[in-house]
Amino acid sequence: MDINIKHIGSNYLPTFFGSEIPALSRLLPIAVVFTFALFASACSDGDSSVGLAKNEMAPTLMNKKSSHKPSRKLATAGNYQFIYKINAAQFGGRTVRWASKSINVSGITNPSWQAAIRKWPVVRFKFDSSKEIVFAGYSDEYPKACGWAQPMWRSNGKMARCIIKLNTAIDSMGCHSTELVLQHEVGHCLGIMGHTNDGGLMDPVCCSSKITSRVRRGLALLYALKPGTKIRSKARARASSAMHNKSKAVRDDLFDPSGERLIHGPVIATQARQ
Ligand SMILES: [Zn+2]
Repeated sequence: MDINIKHIGSNYLPTFFGSEIPALSRLLPIAVVFTFALFASACSDGDSSVGLAKNEMAPTLMNKKSSHKPSRKLATAGNYQFIYKINAAQFGGRTVRWASKSINVSGITNPSWQAAIRKWPVVRFKFDSSKEIVFAGYSDEYPKACGWAQPMWRSNGKMARCIIKLNTAIDSMGCHSTELVLQHEVGHCLGIMGHTNDGGLMDPVCCSSKITSRVRRGLALLYALKPGTKIRSKARARASSAMHNKSKAVRDDLFDPSGERLIHGPVIATQARQ
């Protein structure tokens, strides 16, 4: 499927990035990642640009005294491999997440939609106008997708923004409920930048309502680690040979502790039932 990110960008970036448009418009197309394509992709394309103004950067709310050392129960081989595949593989083997576990969501006032999003464990949500996770409305850009999400993060591993859109035809295309699709897309925005295959909410064909234990544990580990934590060696040391091969292509030149660059992650689309 050949989709040009510029189309998306022209729809919503002006609102958020204002004067940055000329630079952003030069970005190469970003690969649209459907299910199977994600894990195979080495890294997102179109991954750098000039950033937002510095004063737009999310404040660091993390407790400096925190050790960011996950409990032994969380730090299992399976959990590391999971977050490597669905998260760190997009960023040279380092983790990407919101700096704070309290995340702003804008554009959603419907109480039942808010309630669905609040079912996510580990993090909390504030529904206001602050643009972290942003519901940007309905679109027909991807006719076969119920909805899609595009995470963007800073080169220090801190999530900066995540845009969610729903298909204009969501009610007539086998997408289950809007609540579940939104809940699923918010999962992508929390850092689950891929799909599972376990019968749960994060499977690519939308959506079972169950947040599986694998996803819960992965999310808990992701948010127990500091953003930008290098986990490739942990995942590799314990991974199968298949993962060794896949991770060879992963670049490791994107990390920058000062977080100057804005990195555009993949547009992750969620399919309707066939
Ligand atoms: Zn999805």
